[in-house]
Amino acid sequence: MKILVINCGSSSLKFQLIDSDTESVLGKGLCERIGIDGSVINFTPAGRDKIVKEIPMPDHNKAIELVIEALTDPDTGVVGSLAEIGAVGHRIVHGGEAFTKSVIINDDVIKAIEEVSDLAPLHNPANLIGVRACQKAMPGVPMVAVFDTAFHQTMPEEAYLYGLPYRFYEKYKVRRYGFHGTSHAYVSKRAAEIAGKPYESLKTIVCHLGNGASISAVKNGKCIDTSMGLTPLEGLIMGTRSGDIDPAVLEFLAGKEKQDFKGIMNVLNKQSGVFGLSGDLSSDFRDLEAGLHDGNPGAVRAVEAFCYRVLKYIGAYAAAMDGVDIICFTAGVGENSPMVREKIVSRLGYLGITLDPAANDVHGKEQIISTPDSKVCVMVVPTNEELAIARDTAALVK
Ligand code: AMP
Repeated sequence: MKILVINCGSSSLKFQLIDSDTESVLGKGLCERIGIDGSVINFTPAGRDKIVKEIPMPDHNKAIELVIEALTDPDTGVVGSLAEIGAVGHRIVHGGEAFTKSVIINDDVIKAIEEVSDLAPLHNPANLIGVRACQKAMPGVPMVAVFDTAFHQTMPEEAYLYGLPYRFYEKYKVRRYGFHGTSHAYVSKRAAEIAGKPYESLKTIVCHLGNGASISAVKNGKCIDTSMGLTPLEGLIMGTRSGDIDPAVLEFLAGKEKQDFKGIMNVLNKQSGVFGLSGDLSSDFRDLEAGLHDGNPGAVRAVEAFCYRVLKYIGAYAAAMDGVDIICFTAGVGENSPMVREKIVSRLGYLGITLDPAANDVHGKEQIISTPDSKVCVMVVPTNEELAIARDTAALVK
């Protein structure tokens, strides 16, 4: 079955058409600047050159129309007609406590997603705009919602509760949810396959290190803890997000900088992380690595703090699971930076881990990077969230 995977943001829409039988990508692309001047759609049919077109996209309905045009174009398209697309899988950021797995979208599901939208006000409404635009353009085609939070819903109360008055959980569902769930699920399952061991028998730590970064503890096939919280701001130091801080910093900085909450939240989300730590050098690890080689003190500071935070979480999750069998690195930095992996793994000797430096020299492909006698198997496992969404979609609509 051919599955269209949609990841819709407020002004962008990423898409991939995946053949779920062969698990191959038939084509993929991106609509940018939707509702803004200078809208652009790019589309890459498998094995061919990228096509870039600047076309006005006043709204997401127009974007979906252009996606369908690109997929069905007689010269550069990848399907003969729309009828060949069997289902659409939508990435939905926040499922709250309502969704513990992917579901077929109906009116009740849309209502439930709307009800948790105040937990992800920037993402869920945008995700739903994509759902509605697809429903309009492709009536009768089944749609599936795949939630970033669902995989983490197995976390026990001790891990998901904040040390706040319990009434705030009861009244407002203020708790830790976790994100990147599709990636953590995909990578932890794939790691078990690579190790040749049953998923349900393993203790795995997944380090999803990209521009957004999170880490999870997966014990016997279930997530028992993850570093992101009510929102994706908690946990690791990220590209521009602060990760864990003392909440009192907010009030302190608001006073010193004469800023309101919105201004301070903007600093925490957009100006912090390795970007802020490096003295605004860059949020991109390629630039930071170059800076490190040149001895730039900002780059050194940012990379060291980033790696140290990951190291601390690995220790915490090994304790939470009473041991660890596999540690995986994934996402942009995790898959492509031997330097970051080396900095972290070289300090895990207390777990009986030995890094194989030659094996660690790997970019974007599956590889075991620990030595055969290492007590814990350390791997690079490239994530594939679109494929995971397509798999869930195919399984539900079949
Ligand atoms: P993601 O959010 O998973 O797409 O990851 C994006 C981030 O991965 C970029 O901002 C870079 O920091 C990082 N990245 C991508 N390629 C490389 C590379 N070759 N070396 C180091 N970091 C990389």
